[in-house]
Parts: sequence; C-alpha cells; structure tokens
Amino acid sequence: MSSKGFVGLGVMGSAMAGHIFNKYSDLIVYNRTMDKANSWVQVNGGQAVSNAAEVGELCEQVFLCVGNDEDVKEVVSGEEGVLQSMKKGGVIVDHTTISADTSKELSELCSAKEIGFIDAPVSGGQAGAESGQLTVMAGGEEKYFDMVKETIACYSKFIKLMGPSGSGQLTKMVNQICIAGLIQSLAEGINFSEEVGLNTNEVIEVISKGAAQSWQMENRWETMLEDHYDHGFAVDHMRKDLELVIKEANKKGINVDLTKIVNSYYKDIQGIGGNRWDTSSLLKRLKEL
Ligand code: NAP
Repeated sequence: MSSKGFVGLGVMGSAMAGHIFNKYSDLIVYNRTMDKANSWVQVNGGQAVSNAAEVGELCEQVFLCVGNDEDVKEVVSGEEGVLQSMKKGGVIVDHTTISADTSKELSELCSAKEIGFIDAPVSGGQAGAESGQLTVMAGGEEKYFDMVKETIACYSKFIKLMGPSGSGQLTKMVNQICIAGLIQSLAEGINFSEEVGLNTNEVIEVISKGAAQSWQMENRWETMLEDHYDHGFAVDHMRKDLELVIKEANKKGINVDLTKIVNSYYKDIQGIGGNRWDTSSLLKRLKEL
C-alpha cells in the first residue's frame, strides 16, 4: 500500500506532486480531467486512480491543490471524496487557497472521523513549485502537522504552523492584501515615469537601491514595461483571493479599502479579456482604460 496521494495536477499541483514522487518513489494521483493524471504518470511514474475516494482508500496522507472552495469540498467530503474511504489516523493537507470558514468546516468533518486536516496555502507561484521553493503557511492540529511536514518540505523552503484550523488561509489573505496594493503602486510609478518622459530603466535602477525596492519591482518592472503579462499568478486567481479577503474583512468589520479598490481594478482587467494575464497587468489597465 502506498501511503501518499495527490489530488489536483494543475500548474502548482503537478510540480509539487513531482517533488513528492522524486523523494518517495511512489504516489497515487487523481485529477478531475483524467488525461492530466494519466500524462503525469507517464512522465513521472506512480499510479493514477479514477476518483478521490480511491486515493483516500489507498493513502494515509493525501495532499491536494485544486481550484476553489467548491473543488476542495468535492474532493474531501463529496460523494466520491477522500473522507468516504480514508482510515482513522490519516491526514489531508489542502494547498488550495480557499476561505478560512471552509477549512474549519472540513477540519471538523475530518475530526469526527479521527482524520487530520491541515490548511496549507502556498506562496511562490509556479516557479516556486517547480524549484521546490514554496513558502507554506499552515493551520490545524500540531500532531497532524508534525506527521506531514517532512513531505511538505520536499517542495518548500519555509513551512510554519500559524495556529488552529483556518490560520493558514488567514495568513495567505494577509499575503494577498500586501501584494495587491504594492503591484498597483508599482504600476502607477512606472506609468508616471513614462508619462513625464523619464527613462524608466534608469528610474528603476535608482529607486530600487532605496526604500521603494520590492520583490515585485525586482522581478516584474521589466516585463511590465515590455507589456508581457504571461507569467506568474493569473488575474482570475487573484480575484478569487481578494474576494475571500473582502468577505472575511466584511464579516469582522476590518478596513481593507485599498484591497477593495485593487480588486475592482482586476475586475476591469477581466473585462478586457485579461483573465489569464498575470497580476502585474495593472499597468496595462492604466494604459488602456
Ligand atoms: P490550476 O492550474 O487550475 O489547477 C487546478 C487543478 O485542480 C486542475 O488540474 C483541476 O483539474 C484540478 N481540480 C479541480 N477540481 C477538482 C476536483 N474536484 N477533483 C480533482 N481535481 C480537481 O490551478 P493552479 O494554478 O495550480 O492553482 C491551484 C490553487 O493554488 C488555487 O487555489 C490557486 O489560487 C493557488 N495558488 C496558485 C498559484 C499560482 O501561481 N498558480 C500560486 C499560489 C497559490 P481540471 O484539469 O479538470 O481543471
């Protein structure tokens, strides 16, 4: 019996699953579109099964990275979900970015069956997943976290348990709040520089040595200036994440004014067909709308 399984072989999951397979030389995989799972097995090895319940039956640890709340519910507690068959003492690790409420709800369902549930959203994007350098922010019970952290380590550079169930998702929300405003600032800065006739390459050369420096500036200014938005994290994903932030903030009466504004800008970008452009396309919005 193989003890590890992975559900969701998309941009992130296929790379993460690859790291697990490389370390443990075995993995059970499942993806909604079966062709993806079959191709993954052809390239990497392991075994593809035809639903999440089969993964639960065969594995003591199941990792997932699917799309949104509904996908995670289907995979964990759906009619053909992992909980239909997983044995007592097993652990489910969810790397999808979803709401803290859904994480808590699923954690309670798992707990009733003496199964662990760790919410473990990631930061670092496709490049981080491929190089095994993700940052993982987790929520859940320490005893279950300890059982899976070694496996998570094979695709991560930093992993931290932030608190009880949902804490990983809340931490990811902070991450997205911090990123959203920053990208808009960078877009406005570059746009301003161009409009007033400065040499933007030289502007960035200077200001990146000072207090304005950021990861976004370092990694995205050049491609933004070249109008290239085909790498990194997609606008559709960002909108999902910012909606999660706004819902959580509204529920608790927290001010996230800037996040709400940037969320509306990403909505504009979806309106001009930029659903799959990366998040730095806020500059394109300034230029085209
Ligand atoms: P993606 O490429 O769309 O992959 C999602 C995968 O999950 C797809 O292969 C999809 O299958 C599969 N799936 C969805 N529902 C399923 C179900 N019910 N049963 C089985 N498989 C199912 O998305 P991604 O970019 O990897 O992102 C995944 C999650 O990570 C998202 O929550 C995203 O916000 C988060 N994230 C992404 C990045 C990034 O840079 N991409 C960075 C940090 C966090 P199909 O082939 O049938 O669609």
